[in-house]
Amino acid sequence: MTLPTDFQFSQGSLQDYVDCPRRFQLRYVLQLAWPALEAEPALENELHMRQGAAFHRLVHRHILGISTQDLSRTVQEADLRRWWHNYLEHGPEDLPETRYPETVLSAPIGGHRLVARYDLIAVEAGERAVIVDWKTSRKRPRPSWLLERLQTRVYPYLLVRAGAQLNGGQPFEPGQVEMVYWFTDYPDDPVRFTYDTAQYKADEVYLTALVAEIEGLSDDFSLTAQERRCRYCRYRSLCQRGVRAGALDEIEDETELGDDLDISLDLEQIAEIEY
Ligand code: SF4
Repeated sequence: MTLPTDFQFSQGSLQDYVDCPRRFQLRYVLQLAWPALEAEPALENELHMRQGAAFHRLVHRHILGISTQDLSRTVQEADLRRWWHNYLEHGPEDLPETRYPETVLSAPIGGHRLVARYDLIAVEAGERAVIVDWKTSRKRPRPSWLLERLQTRVYPYLLVRAGAQLNGGQPFEPGQVEMVYWFTDYPDDPVRFTYDTAQYKADEVYLTALVAEIEGLSDDFSLTAQERRCRYCRYRSLCQRGVRAGALDEIEDETELGDDLDISLDLEQIAEIEY
């Protein structure tokens, strides 16, 4: 299969491929819209996703310098109020002073580009960088589960490869990079992953091979053997993998639902900070 030359890989699309090659094909190659719920109860899920997006906007504006007082006046809903309070009172500690919120980085990979949008990169130039990802999930996912997510590999890898402009023109050393998942409902219990050269090299080999594998497929995108995944997938009726959406309270991390934000990355944004 030949993907269009302007095809961009992201942690979301690579995760979809690893979870289910067929989902990758339907979603990113064929771009097939399929009207189905991803989780139930649907209204609760939708409200949660809206509040999650609102939290990200709120924190973004806060980091850009809008006053806490002004922002607090806009917060009405109960969950959002609680998350906002937790962020203000128990936000991630020990972050470097220079903050780059909602930053997009990209680098070439296998004839395409690998792209990531970061919630926040906090930098002490020449010393260290901390990637912060805001998680609004109801449950705190297991660190071992997070460790296996493509996001945990792609984000530090891409920062080392493509983040020199955030570090006075010098690429970060892998050992200077750390990734923190901070949970709005578990503010005192973030998950932190350090990074190092061995992991960086392993990620480069792994990600390059993954992209080559996808490029090497013809039309034989297999359906996942783990049918549990189909319960939270909008294509389940198309694949004849059931009709009912999975229960929201049984998923490991509901912020992985509706990761469409990932798809909407556009080249204009990327051009701002490009490797
Ligand atoms: S329903 Fe299941 S097999 Fe079909 S695309 Fe979704 S995860 Fe893959």
